Amino acid sequence: MNATLLRTQWQQLPERAVRQLQADKLRRYLRDVVLPFSAHYGELFRKKGLKAESIRTLEDLEQLPFTSKADLLNTPGHPEKVKEFVLIPDPKALARRPATILRALAKGREQVQRGFESEFRPIFLTSTTGRSADPIPFVYTQHDLANLSSSGIRIMQVCGAQHDFRLLNMFPYAPHLAFWSSHYAATAFGVFCVGTGGGKVMGTEGNLRMIQKIKPDVLIGMPTFVYHVLQQAVELGVRCENLKRLVLGGEKVAEGMRRKLRNLASKLGSPGVVVLSTYGFTESKLAWAECPSPADETPSGYHLYPDLGLFEVVNPKSGVVVPPGSPGELVFTPLEARGSVVLRYRTGDVIDGGLVYEPCPHCGRTLPRLVGKISRSTEVKSMQLDKIKGTLVDFNQLEHVLDDAANVGAWQLELRKFNDDPHEVDELVLHVQKLNGVDDEKLRRELNNRFVERTEVHPNLIVFHEAEELRRLLGVGTLLKEQKIIDNRPKPKKDAPAGPPDEGLHRPASGITPITPAAGQPDLEARK
Ligand SMILES: [Zn+2]
Repeated sequence: MNATLLRTQWQQLPERAVRQLQADKLRRYLRDVVLPFSAHYGELFRKKGLKAESIRTLEDLEQLPFTSKADLLNTPGHPEKVKEFVLIPDPKALARRPATILRALAKGREQVQRGFESEFRPIFLTSTTGRSADPIPFVYTQHDLANLSSSGIRIMQVCGAQHDFRLLNMFPYAPHLAFWSSHYAATAFGVFCVGTGGGKVMGTEGNLRMIQKIKPDVLIGMPTFVYHVLQQAVELGVRCENLKRLVLGGEKVAEGMRRKLRNLASKLGSPGVVVLSTYGFTESKLAWAECPSPADETPSGYHLYPDLGLFEVVNPKSGVVVPPGSPGELVFTPLEARGSVVLRYRTGDVIDGGLVYEPCPHCGRTLPRLVGKISRSTEVKSMQLDKIKGTLVDFNQLEHVLDDAANVGAWQLELRKFNDDPHEVDELVLHVQKLNGVDDEKLRRELNNRFVERTEVHPNLIVFHEAEELRRLLGVGTLLKEQKIIDNRPKPKKDAPAGPPDEGLHRPASGITPITPAAGQPDLEARK
């Protein structure tokens, strides 16, 4: 009975019940699914003398070592590391199980065989972007796609979607969680949805044409891209009066960005639009959403499904679990996944409001929620502007500074060398599209002050551009993902030759990517 309680009552269980049911479910999941069939965890548990039975409460989870991105990378001794995380069942072990024998008697062997195939055979994958390393694929079985669908239905419910809504999915068409999670959510919920493939497939104009044709109630996409499309719509005098939701993912969404998007939607004829953010990453194979809240209140946080996975929040340095409501790094463990499975996965994402269990003040659901801003901890370490002032720059902070600035529309931060000479000092150039006709000098002063307050550096140069020019600089409509922070410093000599323009020289620096690929995002590391 308890096993189904977590699934059927996922949105109304109090903290104690959730934690106990999750511990029970995790114990069974490890015993029956992960440990027998995962090469990596089978061996790890044996080596450490751990057993599924050691997990009686969620506190016991701390006995298990973390898994991090580095564990998924190939080594000479493990040339196909990521495969060691895929559950590959032993048919003999499955056949010996009493449940299997009973099912075979009742339904026939063939049916049982088909059941195992749909549970364990990989049929789909999404992967990390892998700009700095090889992309890491995470495989899904039919069972995982069913989870993606059922979590998708819940996303729709949490976002307050209605069946007569028309959705435009503007996420890039790629093997990334963001696009597919939206696709499966819409399909499973049963709502009209068209995928444009984002800017690279149809261009900004193509997306605008679709908006005019479909008159969507909901736009789904990356905040930067949605911003540019709406901005262009305003410039062209397009009306878009049906908009009810802007559902964002793939990057963090600053409060200022939400405000700017609401303003643009209002100019298009949709003043009541609700901006919602989602969170997810390749390794979770699931995504979560906020529920609608009034524009002037703090967002409601990501509503979690306690039956499909569990989060811990840990001190990023010590790895110790912090109390509910405390900031820390997000660590994820799935409870229903097949295919690729990672346990206690360190996301590198730091959340400032932590994990809470209180009923949601907006929708009243009682479920675990992740509240507050999320930043990538790898980015907090940040890029060093070596010779300028030797100051570490927190690009997470800078993004918030710029997205929250009222008179700044689109922007790009460019790192380059003085005179393009590799031996010269680094320069930080800020490209900005002004809003509201503000005076150049006034905005320069304002931005310089805000930079210094937050990061102790200020841009060497602030250049103002028209919206069109900034779209070109950012690669809106041409790149898979806009380059908000771009590194144009010449590469050191011995480096590999530069890759294609969107992946090599133009190292995407920041642009947090929660929903798409958490792993594989390049760290902002100093270059010598
Ligand atoms: Zn809520």
